[in-house]
Amino acid sequence: MNTSPTNQYDPAQDQLAPEYGAEVAAQNAASDKLPRVPYPAGVDRQSRIFWEYVIPVIGFHLLIPFAFFEYFFSWWGVGFLFLGNYIFTSIGIGAGYHRLLTHRGFKCSKWFEHLLTLLGVCSFQDSPARWVLIHRVHHQHSDHQPDPHTPKVSAYWAHVGWLFYDNRELSTAAAYDRYVRDVMRDPLCLWLQRGLNWVWVYLIHAVLITLLGAATGLIVTGTLAGALQWGAVWLMWGVIMRTVFTWHVTWGINSAAHMWGYRNYETREDSRNNWLFALLTNGEGWHNNHHADPRTAQHGHRWWEIDVTYATLVVLEKFGLVWDLVRPNKSALNRKEIHQSAA
Ligand SMILES: [Zn+2]
Ligand SMILES: [Zn+2]
Repeated sequence: MNTSPTNQYDPAQDQLAPEYGAEVAAQNAASDKLPRVPYPAGVDRQSRIFWEYVIPVIGFHLLIPFAFFEYFFSWWGVGFLFLGNYIFTSIGIGAGYHRLLTHRGFKCSKWFEHLLTLLGVCSFQDSPARWVLIHRVHHQHSDHQPDPHTPKVSAYWAHVGWLFYDNRELSTAAAYDRYVRDVMRDPLCLWLQRGLNWVWVYLIHAVLITLLGAATGLIVTGTLAGALQWGAVWLMWGVIMRTVFTWHVTWGINSAAHMWGYRNYETREDSRNNWLFALLTNGEGWHNNHHADPRTAQHGHRWWEIDVTYATLVVLEKFGLVWDLVRPNKSALNRKEIHQSAA
């Protein structure tokens, strides 16, 4: 990977790696699907295993059966999966980490940017700077070496496997300098990057949700046992199950939305518009649209491509909380559009 400091990543541009072009166009023309690719060069047998990811991911999954024990189960909890998915993952990750920090698809004040960032941290998807770095590399090299998480390696690798290994090319100071210098300038993002500060923020939010559940239980039942049980239910469904649910929802963009679905645009990777993951992620699943025009904050391009995250941003724009939403680049998209007769 070229890590020359003069080759800074500019989120205002749809910066594709220069080596692609004629070669990829020819591959796309020759076949509906791109060929398989090897593991990223920065991952090999010497790569450190990210235990700070492996342990929570496996541990949370092992807890799933307990969530259905009568003591921990609540239909309200099941409902909260979707509310929590919207608040922490669609607004925190989709609007915050992705459309704002990675692609600069809209503007807002610093305090609001920090609010979105902290909501994103509560989804347990790494620090904002690292998330943005990986995602920018993904856009530059999508479905080609060294895309950090292409299903061209394997579906398992794209969905979750890539999270467990240190991709050394992405951990260097030069990579941070090249890809996320803008993000690292922000004091909050810089602080979250230090040690495991972002994990501590996640743990604090877990404690707060548990305490809120216990307080509600005390008010509703008037007993200590009731407070304990409500706290346990809120921890189980409001934190653990919600985190597992939103992991898979988000990971599905890297796996499913690069394998299954339809394409509105001819792009140089295998991105797809996947309606199931578009609904689950509140808009991120219109992933072929997103790769065709990464900058725009609007991922749903056709009237029926519902994009709740973008709709939320439009409402926030009316309240003056966000502004300068980047609208789809019509002329660029027209050039890439796949017409039905030609499909
Ligand atoms: Zn993608
Ligand atoms: Zn993106």
